[in-house]
Amino acid sequence: MKRRPEKTKTDYGYTDVVITGGGASALAAAVMIRMSDPEISVTVLEKNSEPARKIRATGSGRCNITNTAAEGYLDIMKFFTRIGLVTRTYENGLVYPYSESAADVADLLIRRALDLGTVILTDAEVTDIRCTEEKQGREEAGCGRFETVFKGGCIKSDHVILACGGKAGPMFGTTGDGYRLARELGHSIVTPVPVLTSAECREWSSGHEPCAVRLAGTRSRCVVTLMRKASPEADYGSEEIFREAGEIQFTKTGISGICVFNMTRYMRFDRSRGESLADFTVLTDLYPDGDIRDFLRDRRENALPGETGADVLCTVLKDNIAAYVMDTVSASGSRAGEKPVSELTDGDIEAIGNAVHCMSFHPERLRGWKDAQATSGGVSLDEIDPDTCESRIVRGLYITGELADRDFPCGGFNLSNAWVSGLAAARSIVSRSE
Ligand SMILES: Cc1cc2nc3c(=O)[nH]c(=O)nc-3n(C[C@H](O)[C@H](O)[C@H](O)COP(=O)(O)OP(=O)(O)OC[C@H]3O[C@@H](n4cnc5c(N)ncnc54)[C@H](O)[C@@H]3O)c2cc1C
Repeated sequence: MKRRPEKTKTDYGYTDVVITGGGASALAAAVMIRMSDPEISVTVLEKNSEPARKIRATGSGRCNITNTAAEGYLDIMKFFTRIGLVTRTYENGLVYPYSESAADVADLLIRRALDLGTVILTDAEVTDIRCTEEKQGREEAGCGRFETVFKGGCIKSDHVILACGGKAGPMFGTTGDGYRLARELGHSIVTPVPVLTSAECREWSSGHEPCAVRLAGTRSRCVVTLMRKASPEADYGSEEIFREAGEIQFTKTGISGICVFNMTRYMRFDRSRGESLADFTVLTDLYPDGDIRDFLRDRRENALPGETGADVLCTVLKDNIAAYVMDTVSASGSRAGEKPVSELTDGDIEAIGNAVHCMSFHPERLRGWKDAQATSGGVSLDEIDPDTCESRIVRGLYITGELADRDFPCGGFNLSNAWVSGLAAARSIVSRSE
C-alpha cells in the first residue's frame, strides 16, 4: 500500500505567548497580557470550532463567575469591571453577570481578546509541545524555546500557557489532553477523577427492599453526612468526613444536588490499598430543623381519631419521601407504619426517628466525566509556583485552571480558580517582559 505523504503543517512563525485552549483561564490570561502590554503577541489555540464553549454552559447557562468568599475575589471583580462586565451578587455570596447569561461572559471575553489583538485559532487541537534542551536555559526574549504543534500548523514562542482544562464535560472539548502534554514536558499527574457529580446508590437497584426509585424527581432540604470506613477491614462507615446542609435531589438512580456534588470531592479511594466506593455511606437528615421524635411524641399525646405515624410524617416530608421512610421502618422489622399514632411505642418512635434523621444511602457508582462539573487531580501542585502558575520544571511554561491538581466546591469557586490562575500567569509573563 502506498504511504500517504504527511500533510505539511503551516508554519505560523513566532509569537511571544502561545495559550493552548481557549477556555476560562486562557481568555483571562490573553486579555490581561494584551491589556497590560500590547507589545506582547499572544496566540490562543482552541481545538473546538469556537472558544469558551464550556463557559456558555456554566451555572446552567447563567455562569456563576465567582463568590465573595473565593480566593482572589477582589482581583476577579476588578478584572471583570475593567473589561466592562456588570455583575450581581446574591446574599449567599454567589456572583453572576447582571444579565444572568453565561453566553454574555463568553462573548465579552472573546471580543475583548480579539479587540486587543489576540490571535485566536480555532479547530487547532494542540498535539505536541516541544521545548528544546539547549534553549530551555536561554533567557533572551524572542528565542522561541517552545514549538507547539497543532492540527494544521506549528508555532514557536517564548512562553506557553497550558490551559486545556481537565476532563469534566468532555463535550466542551476538555478530554484530558493537557495531562499528556504536561507529562511529556516532565510533569507528574495526580490521577484525575470526576467530581461535582451525582451518586448512583444501591437502594435504587431492583430487588432492594425498600426500593428508592419512588423518590425520583423529589427534592428535600436536608443535611448530608458522608461516613467512611475507618479501615478497609471495618464493617461500616464509622468516620465522618463531610457534612453539608442543602437540598438533596433524588434521581432515577440515586442522589444529586449541590450538597451531594460537593460531597463527591471527598469520595476518593485507592484500589491498590483495598479501598472502594463501598467504604462510603451517605447519611441524610431529612428533618434538620428539629427532632421528629419530639413531634411524634406530641402527636401521640394529642392524637386525633384515625391519625397514623405515616400521617404525621406527611406533614413534615413530601408524600413519597414519607412513604419511603415508613417502608424503611417496616423493612427494619418495626410495625410502626401500620399503627395509629396513639399506639406508637417509644421503640417505634425511635425507629421512625432514625429513618428520618439518619436515612442511609450506599453509593455504588459516581456518575462519570459527562456529568461531572470538575476534575479532582491533575498536574501536581509541587511542580507549579503558586504565585505565578509557572512550572517549576520548565521555565516559561505556565499551567492554569482545572488542569492543575486543584478543585473546589460549587458556588463559583472553580471559575474563580481559572480566572485567578490565568491572571497570575499573565502578570508573570508581563513582568518578565518589562
Ligand atoms: C456544566 C458545567 C457547569 C459549570 N458551572 C460552573 C459555574 O457556574 N461556576 C464555576 O465556578 N464553575 C463551573 N464549572 C467549572 C468551570 O467551568 C471550570 O472549572 C473552568 O471552566 C475551568 O477553566 P479552564 O480554563 O481550566 O478550562 P476550560 O474552561 O475547561 O477550557 C479548556 C479549553 O481547552 C480546550 N482544549 C482542550 N484540549 C485542547 C487541545 N489539545 N488543544 C487545544 N485546545 C484544547 C477545550 O476545548 C476548552 O475550550 C462548570 C463546569 C461544567 C462542566
